[in-house]
Amino acid sequence: MDTLVRSPQAEVASICSETPQFHLRSLVLQPTTSCNLNCRYCYLPDRKSARYMSPAICLRLADEIVSLGEELTVIWHGGEPLACGIHRFEQLLEPFADRCRALVRHGLQTNATLIDDKWCDLFEKHRIQVGASIDGASDLNHNRVDWSGRATFEPALRGIRFLQKRNINYSVIAVVGESSLGKAKELYRFFADLGCTRLGINIEEQEGANRKPVLDDERVTAFWEDLFEAWLANPAVTIREFSTKIQWLLRDRSDPTSDPFNNVDIFPSVAYNGDVVLLSPELLGVKDPRHENFIVGNLLRDSLRAIVFKGASVPYVRQYVAGVKKCHAQCEYFNYCGGGQASNKYFELDDISGTETGFCRNMSQRLVQAILAKS
Ligand code: SF4
Repeated sequence: MDTLVRSPQAEVASICSETPQFHLRSLVLQPTTSCNLNCRYCYLPDRKSARYMSPAICLRLADEIVSLGEELTVIWHGGEPLACGIHRFEQLLEPFADRCRALVRHGLQTNATLIDDKWCDLFEKHRIQVGASIDGASDLNHNRVDWSGRATFEPALRGIRFLQKRNINYSVIAVVGESSLGKAKELYRFFADLGCTRLGINIEEQEGANRKPVLDDERVTAFWEDLFEAWLANPAVTIREFSTKIQWLLRDRSDPTSDPFNNVDIFPSVAYNGDVVLLSPELLGVKDPRHENFIVGNLLRDSLRAIVFKGASVPYVRQYVAGVKKCHAQCEYFNYCGGGQASNKYFELDDISGTETGFCRNMSQRLVQAILAKS
């Protein structure tokens, strides 16, 4: 959606000649703050309270997408979207279906425990790409518990069975913590048998409400090596991390448009009440007066175009840009990483203009080392 980012780019370019280029390809919408689960590593500070997005926000956004006339991916996330209830959720989808169905691709990240045939009808009707969150077989899924501390493996599997019965393609995101290190091959076998099309691996992060220190040692490298070997032996499931890094390893270095410095995603996230934060959805709901709670605007008052335009000059985005510039100048992994995530720099270093984090050592440096070692 270049029309939205052209102006901020020009704005920033006048401030600094060697500035990353922002792109807007997708945004996160938070249909509800609440979640029916209480996963032990969850970063959401407010997941016990149930507040819901107003359809007026989606109406304004859909109208703006029509006027911009460019494609955008909307990812429903930031609480458990299905905890919204099917009727409420359909009201949020309707403006996009009525006004800009051809321009909007929907994705949704769910803990899968509430999926049934009615939800499958909705996923099909609105062509929603479903992502399920499950960490592996029941022994590796032990951090995903409900509010009474009960295991949720069986309810999640039951939800996934509905998707399978209806032939709805789905991806999976699995969080890898201490107990999964050393079990990469077993983990991969589980997901290959489960039949998901795509697997994303998140090494547990220190973010938001989860203040546990980051796993940060060579066992993570060994995990990636084992996973890469398992995947090479049976590439039945696309692994998001391998696809992304291999694409970057193979990219045409003479093409400036493929330079990560020219591909910084401004990635707006819209809270249930219309507040918008930029760069990282994990910054939604964070209270920090130093950064004005990271809120750059509100979709009930401001256009997305205006928020993105303003975003390039707000202090925390400028700090992030300064950090990416340092990464670009200093780090041998920059070409496979692009300068890391604002949220990890904030939560780990308390400095958005910082560089290396435990997250980037795990998700960029050790991952690339493992791919290169096993290729
Ligand atoms: S690996 Fe870390 S230090 Fe290197 S570019 Fe990425 S975020 Fe920056």
